[in-house]
Amino acid sequence: MSRRPDFLAPSALADLAAGVAGSGGSTVPVREVWTGDVLAELPQTAAADVPGVLATARAAGAAWAAWPLERRLDVIDRFHELLRRDTERLLDLVQAESGKARRTGFNEVVDILMLAAHYLKRAPRLLAPQQVSGPLPVVSGSTVTRRPLGVVLVIAPWNFPLTTGIGDAVPALIAGNAVVLKPDNQTALSTLYAARLLREAGLPRDVLQVVCAEGGDLGPGLVEGVDHVMFTGSVSTGRVIAAQAGAAMVPVTLELGGKNPMIVLPDADLDATVTGALQGCFDNAGQLCMHIERIYVHDTVYTTFRDKFVAAAEGMDQRAGYDYGAELGALVSGRQLATVDAQVRDAVTKGATVLTGGAPDAELGPTFYPPTVLEGVTEGMTLFREETFGPVVALHRYGSVDDAVTAANDSAYGLNACVWGGDLAAARAVAERLEAGTVNVNDCMAVAFASKAAPQAGAKQSGQGGRHGDEGILKYTRPHVIGVLKKQVMATPAGTTREAFAKQAAQTLRLMGLAKRFKL
Ligand code: NAD
Repeated sequence: MSRRPDFLAPSALADLAAGVAGSGGSTVPVREVWTGDVLAELPQTAAADVPGVLATARAAGAAWAAWPLERRLDVIDRFHELLRRDTERLLDLVQAESGKARRTGFNEVVDILMLAAHYLKRAPRLLAPQQVSGPLPVVSGSTVTRRPLGVVLVIAPWNFPLTTGIGDAVPALIAGNAVVLKPDNQTALSTLYAARLLREAGLPRDVLQVVCAEGGDLGPGLVEGVDHVMFTGSVSTGRVIAAQAGAAMVPVTLELGGKNPMIVLPDADLDATVTGALQGCFDNAGQLCMHIERIYVHDTVYTTFRDKFVAAAEGMDQRAGYDYGAELGALVSGRQLATVDAQVRDAVTKGATVLTGGAPDAELGPTFYPPTVLEGVTEGMTLFREETFGPVVALHRYGSVDDAVTAANDSAYGLNACVWGGDLAAARAVAERLEAGTVNVNDCMAVAFASKAAPQAGAKQSGQGGRHGDEGILKYTRPHVIGVLKKQVMATPAGTTREAFAKQAAQTLRLMGLAKRFKL
């Protein structure tokens, strides 16, 4: 393993950890995943600190909302520059606390850069007051303004701390909200570093507050005290958050898990498909909500695809290292390793065949699990339906496209899917039939996710609402409508007789017909 970067010295990290809002006095260790060495002691926010954090955020948010939009955008513009200046430091942090390959970490930074650039371009138009015509053209009209909600709570998982935490905070900030951001304890340092960059870019200190705690330790008061919850994580936690938010009438966006399928059509370019599948299945060691866990391959090309894919998976460069060499790194924790290993063991016990991988690789480090390809995965095995969230994929044969589509859709999840084929129109037609929020053709996930103008929103149990696109920022606003009547022509004058009203009603109906016909 390459030498730990000097930047990860304990003094620098202690200073970073001190950025946690509130502190119940307790700390938890943040460890370098590859060695288990403690990098820093992370202060924990206590439930008792929550009211103070929320009050501070609310006051700071009110002042921030009063800034002109251009001034808020200037902050994000500078943040974009600072992210590029400090990319390598951020990657050191992301790698140390998540164990991921540097290439995957780099994609996280690029993701934030794309997202920020998109909303820098799009927000002025979306957040500008909009004039709309009233019920009577010329004499009436309304103005719609987009007001910030107040305080937005962003809860993020450990697998992509920048994409899911900072990425969801940026549009909320642009819209004029304060943000309380709760990263996972395991990956809080990279979040704290990005928050520091936002402050260096000019964000007033209390507008973004990072709170740290294990799971639900902060209690329901956090969810109940905000104006929107943007949650990314597991379906089970999503249900808890949604119930808390529902009881308090707080709107919630849920980005949850997946069991994402890939369909390989008989005319697919198999070499390109194998290259794509390696990334789709094993990027971030499979700890990626949109990654592929099921591959359906047409009978006629199954054996060729399988042999090429297995050989390519065996050739992947997996190791620890603070350089761009490795293609995949470790799992985030021993707990995650145990979950993945248990699912594979369960499948093997019940009759699945391991084509490659299939057991932890302790020689590489305490939480390394190799790219694993299984065959013969059937109903009744845990990983047939449940998300594995590791570098494990099951291969299935199909005879007809209808069977492949049925099998792909046979899931409680609907986050992401992909179709690979030579005839783009035919592949697209299959994509139309897949029940997922994003479906990629000849790519596993990146095209749809990186199309920042397009919403990413899971179907079925994979989510509710979404990020990116116009919805990704408008959801953080409340429309405020002022309707103006320039001349009083709408009210029925006092004393109007039955006959006069009937005549007026007939005229109104005629006008309604004309308005529809001429699209007024
Ligand atoms: P998780 O649900 O256990 O935790 C997610 C976050 O919620 C963490 O910060 C955790 O501390 C916090 N949390 C847990 N219980 C809480 C509670 N009661 N109240 C408040 N916060 C609470 O998920 P995880 O294991 O960290 O992440 C992996 C999951 O996230 C996978 O299912 C993956 O598919 C999903 N994910 C989805 C997307 C997406 O965009 N759809 C992106 C990344 C990850």
